Amino acid sequence: ICPEVQEEIDEFMASFRKLDLHYKIVSKTGEGTFSSVYKAIDLRYDKYVNDWDLDERTAEYYSPRSKRQRTNTREKKIKYVAIKKIYVTSSPQRIHNELELLRDLSGSKNVVSLITAFRHLDQVIAIMPYFRHVDFRDYFRKLSIPDIQLYMRSLFTALKFVHAKEILHRDIKPTNFLYDCGKGRGVLVDFGLAEREEHDGVCPCTRSRAPPPKPVAPVGGYPKNDQRPSKRANRAGTRGFRAPEVLFKCNRQTTKIDIWSAGVILLTFLSKRFPFFNSPDDIDAIIEMATVFGRAKMKACATLHGATFETAIPTISEKGHSLPRIVEWATSRSKGDPPLSSEEKRALVFLEKTLELDHRKRLSAAEALEDPFLTIIGP
Ligand code: ADP
Ligand code: MG
Repeated sequence: ICPEVQEEIDEFMASFRKLDLHYKIVSKTGEGTFSSVYKAIDLRYDKYVNDWDLDERTAEYYSPRSKRQRTNTREKKIKYVAIKKIYVTSSPQRIHNELELLRDLSGSKNVVSLITAFRHLDQVIAIMPYFRHVDFRDYFRKLSIPDIQLYMRSLFTALKFVHAKEILHRDIKPTNFLYDCGKGRGVLVDFGLAEREEHDGVCPCTRSRAPPPKPVAPVGGYPKNDQRPSKRANRAGTRGFRAPEVLFKCNRQTTKIDIWSAGVILLTFLSKRFPFFNSPDDIDAIIEMATVFGRAKMKACATLHGATFETAIPTISEKGHSLPRIVEWATSRSKGDPPLSSEEKRALVFLEKTLELDHRKRLSAAEALEDPFLTIIGP
């Protein structure tokens, strides 16, 4: 551990009374917008199994009688924990929301569980099992299609579980899905932006017949004196992973927003580009999306959510480009290179069903798990 991080850890331990009686931090494992996460040894666990001692140096548990007898599997599972220190700048509602949802989400191997949580003054920490994982950037270009299938199956299994509880994760992206390439298993973390699915939102997309489209803006320009009421909607999430209905400010967002983000991860694997979409704001993100999917589909999607989409940008064509073409370009295959393999083509067929602009036609997590791409692993 570098001195600055050690200092930060010492300060944290000192600020949190008696935490050092229970946990010994061994490293810092992550830092997000709203938290720092530390890897720690659960010292209390050692006390439950009094025959076993903890080797402080290697952080391995061993029995003083026989060092070879390191086979207590239950112990192995929870000897490391992740301590998530939620920044005090997060609102109390937000912290409460995250902990409450985590509590409701126990019981899946692919979703992180909450062991316990502590508060000391204004500081809240959540204790979770620690999951070994590899940094996405270190492997996303290297995975074979069967490896990608395993990754996606693991991710959709987590989503099916979360969505069955009518919870939207809202921030599906590689840093929130901790994947162990060796084991082929991933765990979904970070419910800081998650929310329960609402059933009473108002967006034209939920009415059986869409209202007549609003007056269209003059071609190539934005209407002056726009009288339409401005729209407000939850836009939480990470740029590049936001579904079209989030960008068009739909007031009745569904669990399908997570499917879109999972599709963007698959597109990242296939195109070998990360991040694939990278616009700093929503308007640019809509333009980026339109460049791929074309004007016609974007217009239809906007209308679905009571918005209008008009553009005179010459690089946005009426029909857009097919996802196989996009992947060919992204992986810069010229004429002499091998064309898309049959495995890649299968992946692209599945990708199209997840990156469907109309959320009503987009696959659900349960449907995705029935899809041949996730049931028949391999060629
Ligand atoms: P934030 O809300 O700040 O993004 P996260 O819950 O996503 O917080 O955690 C930030 C990072 O910490 C993750 O991307 C991951 O690298 C690491 N991390 C979080 N939870 C765990 C865990 N249970 N096991 C191992 N690492 C974790
Ligand atoms: Mg995160």
